[in-house]
Amino acid sequence: MTVSHGAASHTMYTLPDIKHGLDLTEDERMIQEMVVEFAEREVLPIAAEIDENHSFPKHNWDKIVELGLTGIPFPEELGGSNGGTLAYAIAIEEISKVCASTGLTLAAHVSLGTYPIFKWGHEDLVKEYVPKLIAGEYMGAYGLTEPGAGSDSGGTLTTAERDGDEWVLNGRKCFITNANHAGTFICTAVTDKSLGSKGISAFVVPRDVAGFSLEKGEVKLGMRGSDWASLVFEDARIPSNHLLGPQGEGFKTFMKTLDGGRISIGALSLGIAEGAYDCARKYAKEREAFGKTLADQQAVQFKLADMALQVEAAKHLVYHAARLKDAGQPYSKEGSMAKLFASEVAMKVSYDAIQVYGGYGYSREYPVERMWRDAKLCTIGEGTSEIQRLVIARSILRDQKG
Ligand SMILES: Cc1cc2nc3c(=O)[nH]c(=O)nc-3n(C[C@H](O)[C@H](O)[C@H](O)COP(=O)(O)OP(=O)(O)OC[C@H]3O[C@@H](n4cnc5c(N)ncnc54)[C@H](O)[C@@H]3O)c2cc1C
Repeated sequence: MTVSHGAASHTMYTLPDIKHGLDLTEDERMIQEMVVEFAEREVLPIAAEIDENHSFPKHNWDKIVELGLTGIPFPEELGGSNGGTLAYAIAIEEISKVCASTGLTLAAHVSLGTYPIFKWGHEDLVKEYVPKLIAGEYMGAYGLTEPGAGSDSGGTLTTAERDGDEWVLNGRKCFITNANHAGTFICTAVTDKSLGSKGISAFVVPRDVAGFSLEKGEVKLGMRGSDWASLVFEDARIPSNHLLGPQGEGFKTFMKTLDGGRISIGALSLGIAEGAYDCARKYAKEREAFGKTLADQQAVQFKLADMALQVEAAKHLVYHAARLKDAGQPYSKEGSMAKLFASEVAMKVSYDAIQVYGGYGYSREYPVERMWRDAKLCTIGEGTSEIQRLVIARSILRDQKG
């Protein structure tokens, strides 16, 4: 089964008949089953190798495209399946249970590389790029972070100056996921320095423009199968119609993009936490010490109980944020809460899973140390945990009346 056409054919998202908050619609369940099967059959067997060799999961990517996972949250007329944010989040979650690098590749492509063009691009940009991104002809990347501007991305130094029918970009972006494989890069650049963040605009940068190049990324702690690189603009010339959204609104566009992206990083974190919990639970039932299994030791039972509790709570937050987005309701605060909580749960649960495995958990023989290294990214990318707390605080103190 694929979700390219018709599998999730409803045109409007309707809430499922909720008996409890994790119930899924028929379409969401179908997508989940398909992705679980794919993840277990194709992704799991090569996850350790991808990490060990720092190799981009090309095989997984081709299969992801073939299954139509790149099009889940997009309309059918553009080649998507209109399956909604929750179905998309579930796809990320299920893949990340076994290989977070593959989950991150998909999340960056959809939420950061494709969604902004779909949502804020003018008709020509949407027509030119979104079907190709959904069909996997192009991979998408998102360039916000600069060497001197990460959390403080309003401090962007990359500039864009208008020259006739073109924009001329100069500057540099770093840590950009998918960069070496991407066909398009959504980037911010300052078009009017005097206006601060209101003088930042967004652009779609095609890969092959003159003056644009890539620089190799550093070796990473985790997420080693996920590709990254720096983007270098040296009088890079972009067609004038590649401005994304109105001039001066790029910063706003990028922040709104992250609101949605955080749901997918929440789902990615949730997947890692579930994967680590599942490994620890199974191992505890097999490994014996002092004449009984680890699972018979109450200290281990309590650890597993806490893991299960945290995973379940994270799942509710992630699914809730996704459902709000699907229902067209505000989701910025909830997306931040989901990302913050789930990423910290992923760290805690994978750390505790290593403890349950003991020395074997510290070795590369078992996947839990990889999960812990991968989880760390989730507390940093698309806004650190501290920035999520700022977003939540702003929402409850400034935006909430009374
Ligand atoms: C694997 C990976 C993939 C990435 N992919 C992308 C990508 O595709 N595109 C992209 O644009 N970027 C990407 N990033 C960059 C990522 O978004 C930034 O690293 C992140 O936003 C933090 O920015 P920074 O690294 O400059 O840290 P800094 O902003 O320098 O922060 C350093 C520390 O200070 C804290 N801090 C900063 N300001 C405050 C404050 N006001 N209050 C409290 N604490 C604060 C931070 O929380 C953090 O702990 C990626 C990063 C990684 C690691």
